[in-house]
Amino acid sequence: MTTVLSVASECAPLVKTGGLADVAGALPTALAGHGTEMRTLLPGYPAVMSALEEPVAIVHREKNLFGGPARLLHGIAGGLEVYVLDAPHLYERKGAIYLGPDGKDWPDNPERFAALSWMAATIATDGAAGWEPQVLHLHDWQAALTPIYLRQLGSADRVATLLTIHNIAFQGLTAATRLKALNLPASGFTADGFEYYGKISALKAGLVYADKLSTVSPSYAIELMTPEFGMGLDGVLRSRRADMTGILNGIDLDAWQPPFKTLRAKAKFTKSLRQEMGLPDAGGPLCVVVSRLTSQKGLDILLAALPRLLAEGGQLALLGSGDAELEKAFQEAEARHSGVAVKIGYDEALSHRFIAGGDAILVPSRFEPCGLTQLYGLRHGTLPVVSLTGGLADTVVPANAAGIWAGVATGIQVHPITTDAWEHALGQLCAIYRQHDIWNRMQKNAMRHPVGWEVSAAAYAALFKDIEKAA
Ligand code: ADP
Repeated sequence: MTTVLSVASECAPLVKTGGLADVAGALPTALAGHGTEMRTLLPGYPAVMSALEEPVAIVHREKNLFGGPARLLHGIAGGLEVYVLDAPHLYERKGAIYLGPDGKDWPDNPERFAALSWMAATIATDGAAGWEPQVLHLHDWQAALTPIYLRQLGSADRVATLLTIHNIAFQGLTAATRLKALNLPASGFTADGFEYYGKISALKAGLVYADKLSTVSPSYAIELMTPEFGMGLDGVLRSRRADMTGILNGIDLDAWQPPFKTLRAKAKFTKSLRQEMGLPDAGGPLCVVVSRLTSQKGLDILLAALPRLLAEGGQLALLGSGDAELEKAFQEAEARHSGVAVKIGYDEALSHRFIAGGDAILVPSRFEPCGLTQLYGLRHGTLPVVSLTGGLADTVVPANAAGIWAGVATGIQVHPITTDAWEHALGQLCAIYRQHDIWNRMQKNAMRHPVGWEVSAAAYAALFKDIEKAA
């Protein structure tokens, strides 16, 4: 049995801003059958404190943690066995977990998550009420100082660390003047340590000092080592090439259970989605998008390619919110074309009706570490049309000549990520849609594609076992 402490700044269903929370929330349960016992260390945000059942205070060495008293509590929250760092001066606040009421980062975010990392290193060193983790699974910059602190506490030879990158855009940069305040050794403030252009970079500290690194898809693991995707850290990542792995995220199979058993039954959901969105059937596929509207998601590219879909009798239903300009552009497209329907907002229930009722789901991202909606689509026989990047490249079997001939295709991959290529892909989608045999075969392939956590949990378990250090 490998014991693993997952160190996460968010965890579904308790607190969530992105995919990191889904992974942190799903892995402990998924790993249970794989010889791995994972417990989770979380900050004591109000949402976590109020969800915590049967808390027991654990004795620990820190009387004062980054400017205030801190308790370490052990209990159950969100169905998981958790340790909660109850430090009111750091976490007991109204507002979002990373942002104050002014919409800006809390000024003491560096200390807030240094404290989390310090407590993780303390648990690794001293144990927590008799439980001793052999591996620390660290998520993003918020947990990335842990390997340095482990060295300071003298336990880096004993406890292994895996740092998983969910979003390299957030790097935890801080002014060098905070070195002391963050309890960091001045000797590490160098170009091959955690210094980044004159600042402290928490993420870089993890990339340099963690035993192993991973990210959320094999393709993104390679892309991150290029200047185009590495956001300034590609050089560091190249230097750690041998220690980097990509492991795909899974989806929650219970939450995303299709509401139909057969493809014939799926047709009813397509019909009712058309009715709900006011989209008449013009003989082409009903394409759906469920997405944040940001430049990453490439929806401007889709917008420019849209006339091709409409010309072939296809329609687009979009559910999303984000950049005001993109919201407006899609609303204008809706006003101009009878084949376009747009719902601006975040609506979980509607997203399920979109995924169930769509014929195809479009994901035109410029980059995509893993991506989830294409996985929801696969499970529902809603064929994904995706940009060839990151996790999208790893989860869709393309309907090229070989894929169709071998009868294994599940969707369409678009390359390069341009309007021309997207126009071509939408044309191809409509052509395949008219060939019922091929379309049906692709839907069946898609629905059989494994999209749960089973495969990835086994991969994480093997990795943890591999890096566990001899006692
Ligand atoms: P990212 O984390 O970059 O936004 P992912 O595809 O990994 O992209 O995950 C996005 C998640 O957010 C999916 O679960 C998707 O269904 C959900 N989502 C995005 N926009 C909306 C929306 N407007 N309404 C409901 N769910 C949404």
